[in-house]
Amino acid sequence: MMKEIKQIKTVGNRDVELLKADSNSGDKTVLIIGVFHGDEPQGEYLIRKFMSQRKEPCKNQIYIIPCLNPDGKALGTRQNANGIDLNRNFPTKNRKIIEDEHYFGGTEGGSEIETQFIIDALKEYKPDFILTIHAPYRVVNFDGNAEKYAKDISEITGYPLEEDIGYETPGSFGTYAGKERNIPTITLELPEDKTNEELWEETKEIFDYCADRI
Ligand SMILES: [Zn+2]
Repeated sequence: MMKEIKQIKTVGNRDVELLKADSNSGDKTVLIIGVFHGDEPQGEYLIRKFMSQRKEPCKNQIYIIPCLNPDGKALGTRQNANGIDLNRNFPTKNRKIIEDEHYFGGTEGGSEIETQFIIDALKEYKPDFILTIHAPYRVVNFDGNAEKYAKDISEITGYPLEEDIGYETPGSFGTYAGKERNIPTITLELPEDKTNEELWEETKEIFDYCADRI
């Protein structure tokens, strides 16, 4: 049901894959991204579970990056192998150098190969909607014109809706794609106190929603 269409090698010589689901000729293009942060591996579990369970073709065109940051995942770190927070590495207008090493986004926007992979995917596939999966705040955050989708996803999961996450995120993907390119972008924050199976039960309908109902 999925085929790999693109891949890159990270600094740590690991693969980042971009996959495409079988599709009918749906009019919407959706991009789903897991594991921006290596210490938030739950998203990849959910994405791979969806890919293995889904048997029928999706109505929409679904592109999936199950794990954007395999080096961080292997190291157990938020950042990639260069010590950079990929979710602060996008070349946004509000970008600045962040001193706090936890959120350090590099000295130059778009410096990381993982970031460039996403930038290229946006150019090439022109998604109408993007879902990224993080943890641990249990909230549906959104950027760009995504309130309608965020409300639906909040209803599906029971997680609260939140437009503003409460702190500045210069160089974030939500700012780059949602605010500056006007692509409706959801940042789904999973709760931290659940097993992967429990998370799947809470979120599985989101994937069918992306696949067929957007
Ligand atoms: Zn995160």
